[in-house]
Amino acid sequence: MIPIALPLLGDDEAEAAREAVLSGWVSQGPQVAAFERDFAALVGAPYACAVSNCTTALHLALAALDIGPGDEVITASHSFIATANCVRYCGATPIFVDIDPDTYNIDPDRVAEAITSRTRAIIVVHQMGMPCDLAALVAIADRHGTALIEDAACAAGSQIRMNGGGWDRIGKPHGRIACFSFHPRKVITTGEGGMLTTSDPELDRKFRLLRQHGMSVPDTVRHGSPQVIFEDYLAVGFNYRMTDIQAAVGRKQLAKLSDIVGRRRALAARYAELLGNLEGLSLPFEPEWAHSNWQSYCVRLPARLDQKAVMQSLLDQGIATRRGIMCSHREAPYAEAARRHDLRQSELAQDHSILLPLYAQMTDTDLELVASALQAEINR
Ligand SMILES: *Cc1c(COP(=O)(O)O)cnc(C)c1O
Repeated sequence: MIPIALPLLGDDEAEAAREAVLSGWVSQGPQVAAFERDFAALVGAPYACAVSNCTTALHLALAALDIGPGDEVITASHSFIATANCVRYCGATPIFVDIDPDTYNIDPDRVAEAITSRTRAIIVVHQMGMPCDLAALVAIADRHGTALIEDAACAAGSQIRMNGGGWDRIGKPHGRIACFSFHPRKVITTGEGGMLTTSDPELDRKFRLLRQHGMSVPDTVRHGSPQVIFEDYLAVGFNYRMTDIQAAVGRKQLAKLSDIVGRRRALAARYAELLGNLEGLSLPFEPEWAHSNWQSYCVRLPARLDQKAVMQSLLDQGIATRRGIMCSHREAPYAEAARRHDLRQSELAQDHSILLPLYAQMTDTDLELVASALQAEINR
């Protein structure tokens, strides 16, 4: 069986978890602080704040910007549903715009058209790890004085070149806030986990306050103090903390990130060789200013093929795939959010694409098996 994904976890992570357990401090503590320092240094962000997952990171991003009822947030429907849900958590309205069919990322022209006087933020997604056109999107956000939030759930280790400069890791602040996921389906994992990066100390302060019940003095500080300290509760906060066990695992994963991404890029290049001349199959497009971590490898099937039938046939041969990224506007909670904007490319991408297995432990033989099975479907 070739699964769709497989986390790269080993003795390093197991030993780190063991040490955290035996340290006597298992909730948010010194390992979380160290993971934040490591992550900030790696991506080149002044501030990084760890949380329980990327969904809570996105919620905190909007909450820290005081986004609420009556506000509009422009985003992609073609994304995991958490991108849209976090807007609803704040009582604000998601405004869905279409994607570029080649990169599956939000189309900057469609974003510009959707801006109104009520637009308070734009959530852009680095879908499947492919950096979106940040240069164009930052320019639009700046021109309209609206906040740009990056849903970088899938994009740890991806890189972008902005305006002809050098390569930056996603997470180095270009927008106001970037949000990451460490779910096992992403390229590095802590089981569940998330991170926010920013260059704004005031936003970072709010993230830290809100992730821990609005508590004025964190328990770590009270615990280490020779004085008795009474804390205050300064806002309606949440419990969005990461544990020290997760963070200890995360530090080991982070140390492997460059190698993991290097391996994934080599596998993606091999897929491109194997699949490059299959009739009617479209391979994912990487702009020259982007380096994807290939969190997912998405191919678009010839229109005459039935997506589900192809996936079933591959599954019968022991190869797991997934359909193209979902569209939130097609799901019950967003059904009558109506399509304010044309979402045809989003729907076509969901209906005609499939994600192929890609993980660091895959062998060349695995890739050849997937490629030949796909070839047989196309020749059928
Ligand atoms: C996975 C994912 C999320 C949610 O991340 P969690 O850590 O599982 O909460 C949000 N947005 C996108 C684009 C994702 O792929």
